[in-house]
Amino acid sequence: MKPLADARREVLAAMKRLDPEVVDLVDGLGRITAEPCVSAVEVPPFAISAMDGFAVVSSDVSVTPVVLDVLEDVAAGSVPTRDVTSGTATRIMTGAPMPAGADAVVKVEDTSVDSDGSVTILEGVDSGVNVREAGGDVRTGDVVVSAGVKLTARHLASLASAGIRPVVARMPVVAIMSTGDEVVEATTVELAPGAIRDTNRMMLRSVLGEMGIPTIDFGIIGDDIAELSSAYESAADQADVIVSTGGVSMGDYDFVKHVLGDMGSVEFWKVAMQPAKPFAFGAVNGVALFGLPGNPVSTFVAFEQFVRPALLHMMGAERLLRPRIPAVMGEDVSTSPEKEVFVRVMLAVDTGGSFVAIRSGGQQSNVLSALADAEAFAVVPVGTGSLSAGDSVTLEMFTWDEDRMVDV
Ligand code: AMP
Ligand code: MG
Repeated sequence: MKPLADARREVLAAMKRLDPEVVDLVDGLGRITAEPCVSAVEVPPFAISAMDGFAVVSSDVSVTPVVLDVLEDVAAGSVPTRDVTSGTATRIMTGAPMPAGADAVVKVEDTSVDSDGSVTILEGVDSGVNVREAGGDVRTGDVVVSAGVKLTARHLASLASAGIRPVVARMPVVAIMSTGDEVVEATTVELAPGAIRDTNRMMLRSVLGEMGIPTIDFGIIGDDIAELSSAYESAADQADVIVSTGGVSMGDYDFVKHVLGDMGSVEFWKVAMQPAKPFAFGAVNGVALFGLPGNPVSTFVAFEQFVRPALLHMMGAERLLRPRIPAVMGEDVSTSPEKEVFVRVMLAVDTGGSFVAIRSGGQQSNVLSALADAEAFAVVPVGTGSLSAGDSVTLEMFTWDEDRMVDV
């Protein structure tokens, strides 16, 4: 058996980088930067008042109360016309440009406006107080977002502030298909004897959708060499990556290994992992092919361990793997010591604040209900075998949503 880390390294090494393109910010969410986003400007572009109040020369207000003449009113979006000099102040709103000469803003609560057009300053301020300096967020030449970063709402807002359109990797297009004579559309109401609903295309379409990656759905392919060959061939014409499920084991009807021939090559691996030991990886007319095992939990685990990092790598992402955090096992678990085992777990928090992992249900590779309830994999390394309640374990977080109950 091939260690998972070696298998993944081989997969990543075979993936071709996608070309970069410039996108509008509105199309940037989830895209991966292909080069650093460098600012040509300062943010903020000018010194800005951070408060509603009075722009002053700070040395004027070191002793209070003090009365100053009010020169003018400046609202956000307008510009000052007068310089502030000793003995004067400008009434200013949050977001308005600072007038020349003023170096601080006294907030309106610390003033009282007099009827004769002057203002009494009740509290002094030091130089720079309540002022946002030009370039205080981003300076000209600063890298706003590095290369290889998956753009979030926060990155996009920062890029917007500097007026940058990011250069990102083109999105890969992924062809998906399920195989198996027993597999029927998930919408089937009455199952014929021996038939099961297709879970894997629904899963693949959704996990890819979460990554913002478009799919081409090739449907359900029967256990037939000609049918599978022609599906692979047309998938290779249209997509950057092909993901099929099923047909990669040792059974008489596991046809993935027979189809390729002239079209390409595929290797059948036994990866030292559970679930998802059998795995086919190769190329069809130069397009990467992932043949995932058909059991739905295996499909998910293989997607997480191989396909997801491979797609991120194609897009030039710096970070390919899900976050891992330390936790303790909340119960005894016995696993196969020859394999890296991905135990599907739910989490709780103990009185010491540590995460405690408990199996979310049955661990057979067909038990989707337990996968649906899981929040993480408890990753049991090769050579470990069984874990006892209280043992340390590493969690791989494939979801970290609002439904987590954390006592704070
Ligand atoms: P296979 O990898 O083709 O040997 O399939 C392994 C097991 O997974 C069998 O019990 C199949 O019926 C089941 N299976 C394969 N593909 C799917 C699918 N798309 N949806 C649900 N179950 C599947
Ligand atoms: Mg099959």
